[in-house]
Amino acid sequence: DTTAAPNFIRNQIREEIEAGKVTKIVTRFPPEPNGFLHIGHAKSICLNFGLAEQFGGDCHLRFDDTNPAKEEQAYIDAIKEDVKWLGFEWAGDVRFASDYFDQLYVWAQHLIREGKAYVDDLSPDEIREYRGTLTEPGKPSPYRERSAEENLDLLERMRVGEFAEGGKVLRAKIDMAAPNINLRDPILYRVRHAHHHQTGDAWKIYPSYDFTHGQSDALEGVTHSVCTLEFEDHRPLYEWFLDNLPVPARPRQIEFARLNLNYTLTSKRKLKLLVDKNIVDGWDDPRLPTISGMRRRGYTPASIRKFCDMIGVTRADGGLVDIAMLTHAIRSDLEDNAQRAMCVLKPLKVVLTNVAEDHEDVYEVPGHPAREDMAVRQVPFNRELWIDADDFMEEPPKKFFRLAPGKEVRLRNSYVIRCDEVIKDDAGEIQELRCSVDFDTLGKNPEGRKVKGVIHWVSAKHGVPMEVRLYDNLFMVEQPDRDKDADFLEHLNPDSLTVCQAIGEPSLAEALPESRFQFERVGYFCADRHDCLNGKLVFNRTVGLKDSWAK
Ligand code: ATP
Ligand code: MG
Ligand code: MG
Repeated sequence: DTTAAPNFIRNQIREEIEAGKVTKIVTRFPPEPNGFLHIGHAKSICLNFGLAEQFGGDCHLRFDDTNPAKEEQAYIDAIKEDVKWLGFEWAGDVRFASDYFDQLYVWAQHLIREGKAYVDDLSPDEIREYRGTLTEPGKPSPYRERSAEENLDLLERMRVGEFAEGGKVLRAKIDMAAPNINLRDPILYRVRHAHHHQTGDAWKIYPSYDFTHGQSDALEGVTHSVCTLEFEDHRPLYEWFLDNLPVPARPRQIEFARLNLNYTLTSKRKLKLLVDKNIVDGWDDPRLPTISGMRRRGYTPASIRKFCDMIGVTRADGGLVDIAMLTHAIRSDLEDNAQRAMCVLKPLKVVLTNVAEDHEDVYEVPGHPAREDMAVRQVPFNRELWIDADDFMEEPPKKFFRLAPGKEVRLRNSYVIRCDEVIKDDAGEIQELRCSVDFDTLGKNPEGRKVKGVIHWVSAKHGVPMEVRLYDNLFMVEQPDRDKDADFLEHLNPDSLTVCQAIGEPSLAEALPESRFQFERVGYFCADRHDCLNGKLVFNRTVGLKDSWAK
């Protein structure tokens, strides 16, 4: 059921350790700070930090910050917070690929001196054209045979900003006929006149991902450089740099299949579009699969880590993972750990005609049916109550076991009541129900008849008003971005958010931001991190009660 699935990288490392091939492992999680992290990144985080935890190694947090135009300090801060919130600790300080810009530049000069790199004046379009295709070899650039002196001079002038963006690049000189297109003289540096969040205006050139990643791994002593399968074709290039540069260590790249979840986008670029277009309420909107959105929705770190264990790590593309597996992980956590409470989402007034105006009982109710460590709740009972409008039907079908005219129902933790009268306004709208209590039913069954239904309720005198936000999938189709040529925004669910003005039992008045509850018979809810301010109560529905995860 919820046990961990196979993880081939973990098995491989265990074997290496047992065989004495490696003593201490070093992994890294290398996000680009161009957006917030999402559930796909959580898989990579749990894998990299999890391996280090399990084998007594280190995991580094390294920002892959070679593209300053798209990067921001705010993303760096959010990513650090997400990793910590998930419960992981990076070894040493946070690192940046930009910490290695000086060293990378020296290595670029090294390749030039060895005749293994050159400055190319072809335009980006020409470079693409010269590169060839899968079936046709590329052809050499006319600038490929420049002398080392000229290349060194041009690279230095690129660095200080003498050339326009797109005017010149530095390329490795490998093989324009290589079957793997990544080896057809890949780009090492581009001219970019951009301010960088770490290095300021020091550089007018920025290294490519390929020229940066493996060397950064080597400089940090990373042993296992774990990445997603789209980098498999880059591995020969990763190794070419390690073979041709005087690097201090020899990391190994290992690829695994990325996570794809149904009804969910796992692409920062697409999530950013939803944020920029104000389709959602920022990067941590509870409908987004961002780690901070899931946090705001009420996911626990343990549930996300559990989910990542359940999906496992393979090299085979696992297709679409069912989001029901993710909701299963949080539901079973909350089932065990969330305090219970009663909350009425659609309040309908009930007046108990045989209860006196000043009558007041206070029931002591367990915070959780199986958790004696949780505080007991004080639940007041009075003449006027709120029940949920959906728990009453004027003309009920046969199997309706809740309240109806002339019918009985049990109030949870309290008496059995009977509905005697339905009060309506002039327009025929139901205003309130007049009911009577059978005082002989507290903690015992009524005499001579069966009452099947139990409904939740809140004392009208003591109930606390609150806003409750019900979330549904943001997209109506399983794979909103499946058709690359269509606009995924067409699949937005217009009902992904429903806001209710609800009334909760008084114990909820003290709810701290981010505290989690089961609203009995309704679902699991979390007090909003941001909006529970100045006595205002806002709850986000994390998940419903029903589990649809088919094991
Ligand atoms: P996106 O396309 O959303 O921008 P990315 O891969 O470009 O994702 P990075 O910041 O470079 O974003 O990702 C950091 C790490 O997280 C990388 O090692 C990447 O392979 C991994 N990662 C990203 N998305 C997923 C995913 N869906 N499943 C597993 N790992 C992922
Ligand atoms: Mg990336
Ligand atoms: Mg990306």
